Amino acid sequence: MKALLLTAHGDASVLACGELPTPTPGPGEALVRLQASGVNHMDLLIRNGYPGIAVQLPHVLGGDVVGLVAAVGRGVTTVREGDRVIAAPVSGCGHCERCVEGQEFLCDAWQYLGFHRPGGYAQFCCVPARSLLALPESIDAGIAAALPVAGLTAFHAMTSVAQLRAGQTIFIWGGAGALGTMSIQIARALGLRPLIAASSEEKRALGLRLGAELALDPNDADFADRLRAVAPAGVDAVLDSVGAQTFPRSFSMVRKGGQLLLCGMIGGREAPLSIHQTYLRHLSVRGLYLGSRAELATLVRLVADRTVNPHIGTRIPFEQAAAGQQLLESRRNQGKIALLFS
Ligand SMILES: [Zn+2]
Repeated sequence: MKALLLTAHGDASVLACGELPTPTPGPGEALVRLQASGVNHMDLLIRNGYPGIAVQLPHVLGGDVVGLVAAVGRGVTTVREGDRVIAAPVSGCGHCERCVEGQEFLCDAWQYLGFHRPGGYAQFCCVPARSLLALPESIDAGIAAALPVAGLTAFHAMTSVAQLRAGQTIFIWGGAGALGTMSIQIARALGLRPLIAASSEEKRALGLRLGAELALDPNDADFADRLRAVAPAGVDAVLDSVGAQTFPRSFSMVRKGGQLLLCGMIGGREAPLSIHQTYLRHLSVRGLYLGSRAELATLVRLVADRTVNPHIGTRIPFEQAAAGQQLLESRRNQGKIALLFS
């Protein structure tokens, strides 16, 4: 099979098209022939080589897996050859307390597609069969690629983690990215009031089109005033995938009793925290990424009934994933960067 191989750590030039033997599904696994995958920040962290994130080279990146079941291993009864599927990106041991509760992302033996096991930057991918969900024909494969990583993280953050209620505000940094655009629409679907920051006029216009109530320029002098005009006591939650660069502002804009939802570190991974202000203001600092298979199933239903319409800004053949990564690094992309397979 053709695969895009990570051959060394470095910039996008270390990705090379190559051939790998098509994997054979082991017991409990299914082989998926890819229709679409996607580019994520996690791919960049792994590619660049990050402390604590080690992979064996050559490695196949890609947390988003959408396609057709091509073969199943021993004992698999939940999917059959030919089924159109989408994979939950995290699997667990399947039998610990966390896994039994459906929270495989909390399993100590967690495996993330494209990190602990080969991912979606290849024509075929072996995944645990229990990670697979049926994908309706009505959902285009490229659109589905926005769901496993970006969509699931946004949905998990606002529902299970923050348990936000209709009418509450959520501020979203990077409102025009894949996570941002999914977050706006999911927030709207939940009856929340999404407020965003985005770095260009075009990106802010996209955010407003997708349902943001307010779209701010993070560099504007009147940023805080405009935010206060719609959320006088502060926002109920902040979804912060940027990290150290935005954390102080996230901390200051959240209301008393509000929540800081941390799910990324593209702007740095360490930030000072005032313990005093945190307890004085009854703040919750919550860390998260991805989510459960059940949450992904709910999200698939929201997309199938058109309540949520993922914005795919870029569709490219999977062989051009290096260019997709460069686009993501340039921060010029809008919405999801989908990788398509012929
Ligand atoms: Zn487990």
